[in-house]
Amino acid sequence: MNEAKVSKETMETALKKAPSRPRTGKSRVWHYFEETAEMKAKKCNLCGNIIMASGGNTSNMRSHLKHKHPEALEDCDTYVPEEV
Ligand SMILES: [Zn+2]
Repeated sequence: MNEAKVSKETMETALKKAPSRPRTGKSRVWHYFEETAEMKAKKCNLCGNIIMASGGNTSNMRSHLKHKHPEALEDCDTYVPEEV
């Protein structure tokens, strides 16, 4: 009966593999868009296209990056904010 021991080790390994990433406020996605006069409309800094994104919802913006600027989306997903 050493199931408990095995599961504990598995958990510790999993924890080491997944370092906690600090989440500081706004998503990195915002770095690539700017506000416009229209509340819901965000302008892509890379191509100037207008993306509709209501509130803090970044899914449309992420979708735009994914299709038009995959390297920018990769930057968003790998970016780790520096500690201040
Ligand atoms: Zn764009």
